[in-house]
Amino acid sequence: MKYDYLVVGSGLFGAVFAHQAKEKGKKVLVIDKRPNIAGNVYTKEIEGINVHIYGAHIFHTNLKHVWDYVTKFAEFNRFTNSPVANYRGELYSLPFNMYTFNKMWGVVTPEEAAAKIEAQKREAGITEPKNLEEQAISLVGTDIYEKLIKGYTEKQWGRPCTELPAFIIKRLPVRLTFDNNYFNALYQGIPVGGYTKMVANMLDGTEVRLGVDYLQNKAELDALADKVVYTGPIDAYFDYKLGNLEYRSVRFENEVLDIPNFQGNAAVNYTDRETPWTRIIEHKWFEFGKDAEGNDLPKTVISREYSSEWKPGDEPYYPVNDEKNGKLYAEYKQLADAEVKVIFGGRLGEYKYYDMDAVIDSALKLAERELY
Ligand code: FAD
Ligand code: UDP
Repeated sequence: MKYDYLVVGSGLFGAVFAHQAKEKGKKVLVIDKRPNIAGNVYTKEIEGINVHIYGAHIFHTNLKHVWDYVTKFAEFNRFTNSPVANYRGELYSLPFNMYTFNKMWGVVTPEEAAAKIEAQKREAGITEPKNLEEQAISLVGTDIYEKLIKGYTEKQWGRPCTELPAFIIKRLPVRLTFDNNYFNALYQGIPVGGYTKMVANMLDGTEVRLGVDYLQNKAELDALADKVVYTGPIDAYFDYKLGNLEYRSVRFENEVLDIPNFQGNAAVNYTDRETPWTRIIEHKWFEFGKDAEGNDLPKTVISREYSSEWKPGDEPYYPVNDEKNGKLYAEYKQLADAEVKVIFGGRLGEYKYYDMDAVIDSALKLAERELY
């Protein structure tokens, strides 16, 4: 065999595993069907701005070893994610915090805010939340659910909130303090110069072939390596023989505007049901506006995000981790476990709603098991 490992996918999972294997003296070939490295964290420079081509990515973690790891490959700025919610022209702070409660109800103290939430929760009569709607009302009350959660979530997931699992909304912090930081994370930032450069540093010295689809050349590629680390969709690997796992896909409409500042923030969420996009990202504010001025750049790049149900041929973005898909995944997992030569990893290989830090942690753990 020419290589110890064939890594399918140059996203974070593949890049981290490839780097660790190379460090251990293994011979590694990384392939990707896309024309570029970095998977979904790929950034491309347009008008001097690093544009997040596959959706906005903010790195955040509580895992010190993951932070220490990524900062070996990139310098991170001090970006803190503070999206603004736009509900029919009314602007609210996210995540749900004292600024949000004050704007929504005029309450001034944490005690008043807590009482308001409690009263709305009691009125809704929820004791044990069974779905996203009930969970959301239990956390923040009906007004915030109606204005800031219901429309956005139904657009994002294409399903009523009563049919979605409660855990999705638990990703968002609820705070009785004046703190607009979207994440409860000790470490947060954006790699200066973009994610692509960070991933290129991880892959430095490793052979990478782009525009190569593993599933279309499987036998030939398998013959090159002792083992395969596969980070593509698990159902695609088995040619969907047990049926399709469901994903949500996203369409990005990018625009270069001849103005320096479109919305004054990196992310504005449109939380009403009527606006067809879920959010608008203004990419320059990920890297400028905090440590460096951005208004001196004459142009700006924005992306409107439209969420849609995945169909074959689309990019799969979000695994739909509900009961039905969970069962189907478990069946695919059994097949995957029987593939002696192939290890499945990452957001698509494990069909898991992973953040970047969790994907990196998972790849590091695999490397530990495999290589040490
Ligand atoms: P991917 O990045 O998807 O990489 C898989 C790679 O495999 C791709 O490059 C693909 O082309 C390749 N591939 C697939 N099949 C084949 C094949 N047959 N042959 C060859 N190559 C193949 N996380 C955060 O921490 N913060 C955020 O703000 C955040 N925002 C997000 C926003 C969006 C819109 C999405 C979808 C995700 C977001 N995430 C965020 C999650 C983050 O993108 C993932 O955790 C991470 O990028 C997953 O890395 P991965 O390597 O598992 O998968
Ligand atoms: N959410 C919402 N309103 C918002 C932002 C988020 O209702 O303005 C809900 C929505 O259901 C979303 C979930 O909170 O799927 C988690 O949000 P997060 O930003 O973590 O989603 P991501 O895009 O990172 O997967």
